[in-house]
Amino acid sequence: MSELIPRISSKIHDFLNLLFAVDAECILCGEEAHTDNFGMCKNCASMLIYPNDTEDLLNKNQYLDGICVAFAYSGTVPDGVLRMKYGHRLYLSEKFAALMDVREDWEIDVAVAVPMYKKKLNARLYNHSDLMARFLCSRLRIPYDGSLLMRIKPTPAQMRATRKDRLVLQAGSVLASDDCDGKSILLIDDVCTTGSTVNECAKVMKEKGAKAVYVTVFAHGKA
Ligand SMILES: [Zn+2]
Repeated sequence: MSELIPRISSKIHDFLNLLFAVDAECILCGEEAHTDNFGMCKNCASMLIYPNDTEDLLNKNQYLDGICVAFAYSGTVPDGVLRMKYGHRLYLSEKFAALMDVREDWEIDVAVAVPMYKKKLNARLYNHSDLMARFLCSRLRIPYDGSLLMRIKPTPAQMRATRKDRLVLQAGSVLASDDCDGKSILLIDDVCTTGSTVNECAKVMKEKGAKAVYVTVFAHGKA
């Protein structure tokens, strides 16, 4: 019996580590280091690039009314995103959401995250974008309504897909609710590559009467 106690404690310890940040662990590279107020080590912070090509994204994605990107998908940003998505580090959703923002001139009625297909959600247990969105909305005091979008078709891995391929893969993959009607909506996702996913979400929301769709993502660039 006494042997069980340390084993259980260790399990509880592992579980708590999934939920809460270890202060000394960099949110991007995961190395133990002295971290700044955002939880990054000096090395990762020095590699951050602030993207300046959001105009191009807007021009290529006709249903978007604005886009806000925190960082380029470069340096150790991909490592951090992968640790959040596949490493079961739920606390990273909150840390990343703290680095995301919206533009001052956006008038937002409600927000929603890019939805995940149900089977994928069941396998992964949580939608990291939905978690990020809820933390971001709570900080910015924006109402959140996860029922505005539903993914009805799984999308295959798009790693090597061209922009044209991505548009075909995304077509008909999401449904929007009638509640989009007349609203200015903030759409939230972790990474945006060509913008085809957020553009498809914006398209179906506008078909349901959304006034405007603004997007905020943690990172933009090639996955
Ligand atoms: Zn780091």
